[in-house]
Order: sequence, then structure tokens, then C-alpha cells
Amino acid sequence: MNRRGPAFVPETRARPRTRAPARRATLTQETFRGAPVRELPRRNRTFPRGRVCAAEGCDTVLSIYNRSEFCWQHEPVREYVPRGRRARRAA
Ligand SMILES: [Zn+2]
Repeated sequence: MNRRGPAFVPETRARPRTRAPARRATLTQETFRGAPVRELPRRNRTFPRGRVCAAEGCDTVLSIYNRSEFCWQHEPVREYVPRGRRARRAA
């Protein structure tokens, strides 16, 4: 803004009266809803674009999110490693 005031003053946005009047919010706990502002989650790790499966004769292009050098068909079978929180036993 300069000394002469704002360069652009928007016209008043008069709404047509045909609309149903907005319901009045009652001042209860339900009036405001929301969640605290938080940091965005970390981006998924990506790998170079255009990689091709390393198995012989396979020309499957791997996803940038595929950390393996093989496609799903040629990925060796691995044991599942469960991670995360262990359920606490109720004493
Ligand atoms: Zn493959």
C-alpha cells in the first residue's frame, strides 16, 4: 500500500437476497472445528526415473518408488519383517 491508499478496491460483494439465510452458529463447543497446524509428512523416497528391471530379458520399467533393482515379478522372495509398535501386554 502506498500513501494514496490501496491501488485496487474491490467492489462490495452484495449477495442476492434469494439465498436462504445462513444458519446462526450457536456459541457452543461445536462452533469451531479443526485440527492443530502440523508439519507436513516427510516425502516418500524416490529413485531415478526410467530404471529397468535387472532380471535378464525383463524390460519392465521400475517405479520411482521401487527401491529394488527388480520388478515385482523378479524380486526375490523375502521374509516379512514386522516393524512398529509392539502391543503392550496388559499386566
Ligand atoms: Zn522383471
